[in-house]
Amino acid sequence: MSGLEAGSDVLSYCGRCKMDLNHVVIAMKGTAVLKAQCRTCNATHGYRSPKGITEPGQIVAKKKRTTTRSKAEPIEAVWTRMWEESSSSPVLKYNMKEHFGHGFRVDHPKYGSGIVDRIIHPNKIEVVFKDDKRVLIHGGPPANET
Ligand SMILES: [Zn+2]
Repeated sequence: MSGLEAGSDVLSYCGRCKMDLNHVVIAMKGTAVLKAQCRTCNATHGYRSPKGITEPGQIVAKKKRTTTRSKAEPIEAVWTRMWEESSSSPVLKYNMKEHFGHGFRVDHPKYGSGIVDRIIHPNKIEVVFKDDKRVLIHGGPPANET
């Protein structure tokens, strides 16, 4: 770190941009860079040595995905909660010609019991099964009989 002074360019890892970028030295402590300002996002932060990340999200994105997954409610817990919440709905045998609305309970020949979580499209429903969420085709909204 010799020859550096406030105002010099230094390569540092930017936690906001999540990659190694050119920074301007803001403060020095002896011969070490104490604070640097990112030339890309203008954030000032403590100097962090480059991590060899030259494209956004190389490592961080992977880490983030893992964290999100571990925080998310396991699908089986979601299923149990939804199944109990919709306990008043009758269980309908799955048939792609049948109409399924939000909160309907479905008995699928292959996937077992599920609950309709979302109507994604007039004829597509997202159903929560014990092991996964699946998109199923159904007969669409009931014909308007007024
Ligand atoms: Zn930055």
